[in-house]
Order: sequence, then C-alpha cells, then structure tokens
Amino acid sequence: MPRSVYVNGSYLPAQYASVHYEDRGYQFADGVYEVILVRQSAIVDKSPHLDRLERSLKELSISMPMGRMSLEAVINETRRRNNVDEGFIYIQVTRGVAPRDHTFPSVPIPSLIISAKRRAWPSIDSKPKGGSAMLARDERWARCDIKSVGLLPNVLAKERAKKSGAVEAIMVRDDGRVTEGGSSNVWIVDDDGVLHTHPLGPEILGGVTRGVIKELAEKAQISVIEEAFDRKALLEAREIFVTSATSFVKPILAIDGAQIGDGVVGPVTSRIFSLYNAHTLAI
Ligand code: PMP
Repeated sequence: MPRSVYVNGSYLPAQYASVHYEDRGYQFADGVYEVILVRQSAIVDKSPHLDRLERSLKELSISMPMGRMSLEAVINETRRRNNVDEGFIYIQVTRGVAPRDHTFPSVPIPSLIISAKRRAWPSIDSKPKGGSAMLARDERWARCDIKSVGLLPNVLAKERAKKSGAVEAIMVRDDGRVTEGGSSNVWIVDDDGVLHTHPLGPEILGGVTRGVIKELAEKAQISVIEEAFDRKALLEAREIFVTSATSFVKPILAIDGAQIGDGVVGPVTSRIFSLYNAHTLAI
C-alpha cells in the first residue's frame, strides 16, 4: 500500500508530498512539530501532545491550522490510511508560504503536514536494552521548551554520538548542569533509588513521556526530584535512563566510555520501563 501523507488539506502519495520552496519552515525553521506514539491503533497520550503543540504555536504566534477536533480527525484518518496499528504520527506546522522575508507575512496561512509510519514497539513482557551515551556541549537557544523544527545543535550532537557508537548525546551546559538528551529527557537514579530530572523551564523540552513517567513513578512510590544535577552527579549515578515517545525508556550503561553503576540495566530503570510500556498499552 503506498504511504499517504496529509499536506494542507489533501492526502497525497508520499512521493508527491512536498512543500513549497518558500515555506518558512524550510527557509527559517519557522515551525514546530510533534511525534506521537501509536499502539494497538490508539494515539498514545494524544491530549498532552496536542496541548504541547498548541503551546509551542502560541509561543511563536503561529495560529493553529485547524480546530482541535478537526486536527484529531485528520490524525486518525492519516493513521487509518497508512494502516499503522503500531508506529508513530508526525505532525508539523509552520508559519506557511510567503515571499522570503524574516518578518512575519501580513496574512500568514500555516502549513500542516501529518504522516504516519509503522514501527514495532516492545511487547508487554520485553526487557529494556541498554546503550551508551556521549556528553555534548549544550549549544542550543534559550527556548528549548518550544518544540521547534530548528534542531541543528541536536542534529550535530546526535550525529557525533552515533559516530562514536552512542545512542544519545547528553547535553551539558557550560556551568556543568545536565539539561536533556539530543531528542530525549535524562533521568538519574541516586543511591536511595530516587529519580532526578531537570525541572521544566526554557532549558529543556517538557517531554510528554517525562510527564507520564513522573506520574507513574510517584504512583509506584518512587520519589521524583525535579532539580538540575551536574556532570559529576550524572557520572556517579546508580542508574541513568533517557525517555521520549519513540525511545521509550532507554537505559544508559556507559558515558564517554565510563561505566555507569554496575554497567547493567538497573532495577529502577527496569521497573520504569515496564510501567511505561504497560501505560502505552493502556494496561
Ligand atoms: N527533549 C528533546 C530535545 C526532544 O527532542 C524530545 C523528543 N521529541 C524529548 C525531550 C522527549 O519528548 P517526548 O517525551 O514528548 O517525546
């Protein structure tokens, strides 16, 4: 079945789903996006993802391309047309097409693209597999809370990580604080089994997975402290994991070649992985 992509009002075969050369997303990275998990044909955590989309757009003074109900209908239809029961939905909204000029067009018409891709996710009884991470200087802008398509520092850091065999680049600010991963939030487990993650604010993207895991952990009597920690605390953590809609809960067993904790997936990370996996399956 050919893939079908929603582009500004039409469902197009993927090979024809292109954007105008003067789309401001293409020329200025003037747009935002969302990636949402699909499991058992359900759109997982749809509300917080669409809330975040609305917030990102509002922060950039881009209007919603359509009402929320219509947007949900297009998401469902894109999923259905592509027969995605397990996979993810990608949504991108830009300030639209206009003659190239840095300032906003006088009557902007936002562009909306929605695509759906199949991907197999872990089964309910599967165990998380660990990987290594690389530290990267956090060179991003001061509004990382906006899910902007302007991802160049993340792209460069993640490419360096990949070349070194790592699964994620963990961003460290010049003052030593650890913010988040190139495309994930970072969590550490201390010697008391308490979770630590960077607080919400302009230095990180408020991950939907981060929010869900905070709730799941607290319900399971695992304490969560939202306070910045530094490189030293990261390297001395008992366990580390990173989270995102598509990477789930990914254990980090080594950083820049140095072993973390016992060098194996720890009990707290395993527990959080299982809780999140069950959540995505609505169990
Ligand atoms: N931080 C960054 C920089 C990201 O790109 C992502 C994934 N889009 C996340 C955190 C995690 O967000 P979510 O849990 O909503 O996927």
